[in-house]
Amino acid sequence: MSTLNKKTVDDINAKGKRVLVRCDFNVPLKDGVITDDNRINGALPTIKKLIDDGAKVILCSHLGKPKNGPEAKFSLAPVAERLSEKLGKKVVFAADDTVVGDNAKAAVAAMNDGDVVLLENTRFRAEETKNGEAFSKDLASLCDIYVNDAFGSAHRAHSSTVGVTDFVDECAVGYLMGKELKYLGNAVENPERPFVTILGGAKVADKLNVIENLLNKADTLIIGGGMAYTFIKAKGYEVGISICDDSKIDYCKDMLRKAEEKGVKILLPTDTVIGAGFPDPIDAPIETCVVSSKEIPADMEGLDIGPESAEIFAQEVKNAKTVVWNGPMGVFENPVLNKGTMAVAKALAETDAVTIIGGGDSAAAVNTLGFGDKMTHISTGGGASLEFLEGKELPGIAAVDDK
Ligand code: ATP
Repeated sequence: MSTLNKKTVDDINAKGKRVLVRCDFNVPLKDGVITDDNRINGALPTIKKLIDDGAKVILCSHLGKPKNGPEAKFSLAPVAERLSEKLGKKVVFAADDTVVGDNAKAAVAAMNDGDVVLLENTRFRAEETKNGEAFSKDLASLCDIYVNDAFGSAHRAHSSTVGVTDFVDECAVGYLMGKELKYLGNAVENPERPFVTILGGAKVADKLNVIENLLNKADTLIIGGGMAYTFIKAKGYEVGISICDDSKIDYCKDMLRKAEEKGVKILLPTDTVIGAGFPDPIDAPIETCVVSSKEIPADMEGLDIGPESAEIFAQEVKNAKTVVWNGPMGVFENPVLNKGTMAVAKALAETDAVTIIGGGDSAAAVNTLGFGDKMTHISTGGGASLEFLEGKELPGIAAVDDK
């Protein structure tokens, strides 16, 4: 996959051109108010660059999951307002239920160089998620150049991420996307070694392809979180009522065997924090104790890696030159069960290695625990970064021109 060789906004001549930028403005909203504007901040470098270049900057994005076309609560209008504040200039919001309707066309026709227009939520058009041709053509009709800066949506072939590129002559990636390709791409394709990957989260089944792909790339694969118990069982130990996928035991045995053949080290938790059951609600007080991972009692559930495992994992991170982490080590939403995740986050924060967080829950965990600014790169796309780690070609990236 030639993901490291894509045309970027630095390779285009945008002066006076209408440039459509697919952003990721899928921000959390509460009663119409944006509660976290990190995604807007992430889009600013590309937008500012194009404004400075004298382009006519047309922005589009999806927001949430409107089911049957336009829904006021999923309008991008609040994003236009926040964006205006951050850019210190007017962002014209093209309110249009069909996204590319009369309002949008008029707003774009009235643009001067350096102006910014934001289109309405692309998912107000049902064809968006089906990569429909009519909508793709509508979007393309507004612009001369297309820029994709929405890594979080790059794993989906939609009209605004893929279809549109069939009808625009020049397509590039934005800075945010470029950064994702640089860090994730280099880490997976060309890592400085030792390359340690840490996988966690709830289920093995969600990460089968990631495990398999990383076995071919990494020197060490650390497995924690709920997914560790299927591996522990595959090694012949009982795991009590811990989350475990019996249908994947043979798969895990296969992976353990492959790792041995390839000389890849697989580290599983040697000790486990157990409780009488999953906390309900998730952050409820819970009584726990630590046992060997080989001796989890039949009526107990493993909910976090134990302190010895945290120490071993941290030591491995210390010796690494590249670390990629995806998925928490335990039920980190609970203050009693976040110690393992915290220890790993701390180890990553303290190392000089290149540290990459694969989005989603791990990104949330690292930020919540206050280690966000200590990481080399925190991916903005949970699903997209996982597919990247699986070695898949992401359609939204493949569709952009090579250099
Ligand atoms: P990321 O978002 O970083 O890609 P992920 O979202 O894929 O990670 P998930 O598979 O969704 O990770 O798992 C995250 C969830 O796993 C968390 O909500 C956490 O509470 C849960 N979890 C972690 N360890 C355990 C465990 N031992 N038993 C049950 N659930 C666990």
